[in-house]
Amino acid sequence: METQTNKYDCAVIGGGLAGLCLAIQLADRNISVILFEKNQYPFHKVCGEYISMESYDFLAELGLPMQSLQLPIITKLGISSEKGFMLEHNLELGGFGISRFSLDEHLFQIALKKGVVILQNCRVNEVQRIGLQDFIIKTSQGNFSSEIVAGSYGKYTPSFINLGKEVEKNAGNINYIGVKYHIKANLSPDRVELHNFKDGYCGISKVDRDWHCLCYLTTAENLLQNGKDIKKMEENVLFKNPFLKNYFTKSQFVSPQPLVISNVKFSKKQTQTDGIFLLGDAAGSITPLCGNGMSMSMRASRLLAIAQHLVGGDHQLGSWDGQRPRA
Ligand SMILES: Cc1cc2nc3c(=O)[nH]c(=O)nc-3n(C[C@H](O)[C@H](O)[C@H](O)COP(=O)(O)OP(=O)(O)OC[C@H]3O[C@@H](n4cnc5c(N)ncnc54)[C@H](O)[C@@H]3O)c2cc1C
Repeated sequence: METQTNKYDCAVIGGGLAGLCLAIQLADRNISVILFEKNQYPFHKVCGEYISMESYDFLAELGLPMQSLQLPIITKLGISSEKGFMLEHNLELGGFGISRFSLDEHLFQIALKKGVVILQNCRVNEVQRIGLQDFIIKTSQGNFSSEIVAGSYGKYTPSFINLGKEVEKNAGNINYIGVKYHIKANLSPDRVELHNFKDGYCGISKVDRDWHCLCYLTTAENLLQNGKDIKKMEENVLFKNPFLKNYFTKSQFVSPQPLVISNVKFSKKQTQTDGIFLLGDAAGSITPLCGNGMSMSMRASRLLAIAQHLVGGDHQLGSWDGQRPRA
């Protein structure tokens, strides 16, 4: 396939949170960006959709109309045991809820307005380095050239990325699956609940529209033991927690079929390979329970965008530069 003659300053592989936030910030610095996303916006993603308050001002700075979106602000946490015990706690920093369907779509629209070239339904198949300062990005929609490449392709490392044997060796053996529904539940909008069950836990909190996000993580082994049947696993395992049984049986499901991902691993990766900068889950996924993966992805985009020596240009201070997070 012919390579387009147009050369971009930066090519971004994957338009999730890390990729879209990076593209917007680079465009703000007059850096030409092309972003490749294999799906078409808007689309759903398996994610708990609870974002730490530390990212509120950052998203507002990128151009998200945070006030008018009237997102639920979450300040209370409940953690339950399988036996029906609930621990209550007030969250000091807290968070807010927004579906990835809405959040990624907002960021996509902002990036477009700022002049980012976005190719949707476009999968990157290979990246070739030519000398020190040129890359050819081979995609399902042709070949493109750029000076810098950022890999924000998420948790599944594409075959053309070489993370080295060390990383593969450390990947660990446990495979997890993630399952997500949007539901209409009887749960206060200022509250996030985490419900434990055998070999997993399920988070539930309010997002935009009149939806709650119900998302759980468990081992692939748990699913195997239930004949690879999600419903059966939910009834046999999750329902042992009375709170979960209540949400599953008393709530209205926006879509009865869940979104499911498998082969989820939480391992340390690295922040660059073969001259490609890695950010977000591409540089390492963290377990959602201890995690804050979305804010970490956004912070990584911030760090890369202000790496002056890469691209030159003025650096304007933002909410995360040398300041404490918003309380
Ligand atoms: C079950 C579960 C629950 C979670 N809950 C929370 C939570 O409540 N709060 C929180 O802060 N974090 C949570 N996380 C973590 C959070 O979802 C991730 O850390 C975050 O989405 C990472 O963003 P990203 O941009 O790196 O990747 P992603 O958002 O996954 O984006 C990667 C993008 O790259 C695209 N892509 C991949 N390969 C290619 C290719 N070859 N060519 C073109 N495009 C490609 C994909 O389609 C995708 O859109 C959760 C994770 C899981 C698994």
